[in-house]
Amino acid sequence: MKIFNRYRTKLLVIIGISLAALILTILIASRLILLNSFLQIENGNVKKNLEQVLNALNGEVNHIDTVNADYSAWDDSYKFIQDGNRAYINDNLPDSVLSTLGLNLIVYVSSKGDVVYKRWAGSLEKVSGNVPDSLIVHLSPENQLVRHSDTNSKVTGLLRLPEGILMISSRPIIQNDHTGPVQGALIMGRLLDSEEVKLLSRLTKLSINFQRTDSRELPDDFKTALTGITNSSPFLVTSVNTDIIAGYSAINDIYGKRVLLLKVDEPRNIYQQGVRTITYFILWFAIAALAFTAISYILFERLVMSRRKGHDSEAKYRAVIEHATEGIIIVNNADKVILEGNDAFKKLLDYSDDEILEMSLFDVVAEDTGTADLEIGRIVGEKRDLKLRRKDGSLIYAELSASVLSYNDREALCVIVHDITERKLFEEQLMDQATHDSLTGLANRNLLNDRLSHAISYQKRKKMLLAVMLLDIDRFKVINDTLGHSIGDKMLQQVAERLSYSVRNYDTVARLSGDEFVIVVNDVSDATDIVTVAKNILNLFTSSLKIHDNELFIGASIGISIFPYDGDSVEHLLMKADTAMYHCKADGGNNYQFFSKDMNVKAKDRLNMETDLRKAVEQQEFILHYQPKVDLSTGEVCGMEALIRWQRGGKMISPVEFIPLAEETGLILKIGEWVLRTACSDIRKLIDMGYTNLIVSSNLSARQFAKDNLLEIIEAVLEESGLDPSFVELELTESILMKDEEKLLKKLCAVKDRGIRLSIDDFGTGYSSLSYLKRFPIDVLKIDRSFVMDITADDDGAAIVETILGMAQTMRLRSVAEGVERAEELSFLTEHGCNEIQGFYFSRPVPFDEFANMLSSGKRLQNGSIVS
Ligand code: C2E
Ligand code: CA
Ligand code: CA
Repeated sequence: MKIFNRYRTKLLVIIGISLAALILTILIASRLILLNSFLQIENGNVKKNLEQVLNALNGEVNHIDTVNADYSAWDDSYKFIQDGNRAYINDNLPDSVLSTLGLNLIVYVSSKGDVVYKRWAGSLEKVSGNVPDSLIVHLSPENQLVRHSDTNSKVTGLLRLPEGILMISSRPIIQNDHTGPVQGALIMGRLLDSEEVKLLSRLTKLSINFQRTDSRELPDDFKTALTGITNSSPFLVTSVNTDIIAGYSAINDIYGKRVLLLKVDEPRNIYQQGVRTITYFILWFAIAALAFTAISYILFERLVMSRRKGHDSEAKYRAVIEHATEGIIIVNNADKVILEGNDAFKKLLDYSDDEILEMSLFDVVAEDTGTADLEIGRIVGEKRDLKLRRKDGSLIYAELSASVLSYNDREALCVIVHDITERKLFEEQLMDQATHDSLTGLANRNLLNDRLSHAISYQKRKKMLLAVMLLDIDRFKVINDTLGHSIGDKMLQQVAERLSYSVRNYDTVARLSGDEFVIVVNDVSDATDIVTVAKNILNLFTSSLKIHDNELFIGASIGISIFPYDGDSVEHLLMKADTAMYHCKADGGNNYQFFSKDMNVKAKDRLNMETDLRKAVEQQEFILHYQPKVDLSTGEVCGMEALIRWQRGGKMISPVEFIPLAEETGLILKIGEWVLRTACSDIRKLIDMGYTNLIVSSNLSARQFAKDNLLEIIEAVLEESGLDPSFVELELTESILMKDEEKLLKKLCAVKDRGIRLSIDDFGTGYSSLSYLKRFPIDVLKIDRSFVMDITADDDGAAIVETILGMAQTMRLRSVAEGVERAEELSFLTEHGCNEIQGFYFSRPVPFDEFANMLSSGKRLQNGSIVS
């Protein structure tokens, strides 16, 4: 607003100044130009008046001259001038002659200068008088008035006499036929008296004033005029005052002397008209300018007002937006960058002013990119429910609608964000109630049916197994009845909680009714997987439940059906799981049971194996076989890998069959310790026998490695056997290296510092790269058997082994090729700088005694062949 006021004042001042300047200029210009031209017109007019008077005066003189011409060219006069006869006087010159002819003077004078007749009247009323003496000097024969050289000559003009100024005409007296000789002159004159002046005044309709130049009381203005008038400028015009202007002119007598000054007064009509015109003009102009200023001012005011109104309405609109309870943002339509957002919006999403201005609508909308694109495109003219992300990452639901507007010459969207979280949550709650069990929050039967049928069709395509486990809590009815329903409910809630934690998040846990739960296990490859899950679930019940100071031990029975063996519909699978569950209960409960006999057998086998394995650990049913490693640079046996075997009831079982189970059950810890101890004591024996160039390697499972007491065990074993650690190597799988790097590095370094060699087993089957291995203190790389097999299969296989060998060399790792079965493989490996080989080509894993014999036989490689 202030800005507008300042502008207005400034503008008004500018208009005012320019108007004043304009008026001033016009005033000066009109004075200079307009008034001047008026004055010139006035001047010209006065001169014209003077000329008019002079003409009138001339006319008077001419009139006398005309009368004179009548008398002077006449035979009677001609005769009279010669003889002065009385008859002429009597006939033509009676007493009344002067008044009749309107003259004051009439003189007949002969060429010799004799006055033949003279007559004078002081005024026209007077009949006669004496001709003034002053006239006589003008009547000498030499005077132009008398001396007419030819018949056509004449003299007209003024003649100054003390008695007055005479208008005079002198003509030669000649005969009727205008012949001479000239005998004399006839002079007629009339006084330029007040009567005459009045006459002139009347004729010219002008105010006329004559002054004799020789007058003693010549008024001052005449005196000035007399000096001002020259031959070149015969008229002088001066303004007497604002009302009257006077023009002066000098009049000469017949001798060329200035005898009379003429003054003509003129009212200054033109001048006054000019002044009036200019005044009017300026007045009108001033009025017009004022009007213009006023109009401009009003228009400007209007503009300011409309601007102010615009500002006011913008301020109002802002206030409305700012105070709106709905979140409102303005976003650029092209890229949806937020240009502005109100408090409600910022509060809703917990962002500050600066933060929102760096965001776009896409940063706020918490849908996946495709949906966000689509939905944001739809909010114009349509309400869309979208999830929004708050600053802390939490989600809210909002209904978004937008309208297009122009914002700073850009196309923008005004987006209204209406928080509908509460409504959505309520809806979800309703939804949840329809699909979830209200006591435990688990899926209810509806949702279970839904999920299960989806899972069935999914597994059908994927060709995997799907297990449906129906779990029933043992003796729940008793607990419920004795401790009360509220304890029972609490118990169910805790069971539900434990169950939910025990399954993967794409498996489903549902409560069917009472104490019946269903667990749907997806993506199962065989029965052992299912057994693992079932046992994990049963394990949940080994620890007691604490409810209101009650410590409850409960068990559960699990019936398992498997898709596709036991059915391919929801009903069938649930029914069969139910049957299996009842069988389980009948067998005493707290266990699991498959519906299918096959599965039950497999599961039983596994269960048996587990029990047997425990026994095997206790009863030491394991033995170690040793497979030699041969140094390719010497061809000598340089080491041996300890490989476990289980002698189960007279049958030798491969580690491939029981190591996974041992790992799963944790039995591997005890087994692994036994292997290390036995391997160490065996090599000790060999050293004692004199084979001091061997290193024994023992496989270390991930679970063993993860144990905190690994170093203590190693320490203890070394001490027991009194073995130098440099004879021992541990084979680790790549999977070990994938864990927490810092902790791992510490542990590896600790082992390494103890002087034990570290080897990476089955290198290439995991995902670790050589460059990744570089960070760890590894000494040996065992190239997996699958790569060695590929050497002869194709060029690629050879290339891979070649690359691994090359890199091992640059990283200064010792390379061992596993599973070498053929001479070609051996020669390729020898050629490409592999350090050691291990495989059936040289020897299968053999019992200790056999291994000792092999050493004593001196079995070795020579030019790719085995010699002993
Ligand atoms: P591994 O560590 O890769 O051991 C090499 C396996 O390849 C041995 O199988 C060995 O008999 C076999 N093998 C060696 N040369 C050849 C050959 O030229 N051709 C073929 N086809 N096979 C060859 P084994 O003894 O059955 O052991 C299997 C796996 O069991 C071992 O693989 C190892 O991962 C694990 N294992 C064996 N003993 C132990 C142990 O004491 N502790 C742990 N944790 N795992 C062990
Ligand atoms: Ca190994
Ligand atoms: Ca291996």
